[in-house]
Amino acid sequence: MKSSCEQCGRLTGEKEVAYICSFECTFCESCTTKMGAICPNCSGELLLRPKRLKKPLDVAKSQLKAKLFGR
Ligand SMILES: [Zn+2]
Ligand SMILES: [Zn+2]
Repeated sequence: MKSSCEQCGRLTGEKEVAYICSFECTFCESCTTKMGAICPNCSGELLLRPKRLKKPLDVAKSQLKAKLFGR
C-alpha cells in the first residue's frame, strides 16, 4: 500500500481516499478525476481503494482464529 499519490505527492494514507490500478499504482481523488480514472503508468482502470480499517496483525489473528475454530 503506497502512502502518497504518484502524480502530485499528496498523502494517500490508510485513512485517505485513494484510487489504485491492478498494479497498485496509487493516486489521490483529484488526480484520478483529472486523468479520467485511467492509470497513466499502465493504462489500467483506477478503482476506489478499499479502506483498511484494521491493522494487518489484527487481520492475521482473525484469520488464524477462523482456521482453528472455523469447522
Ligand atoms: Zn494526486
Ligand atoms: Zn497502473
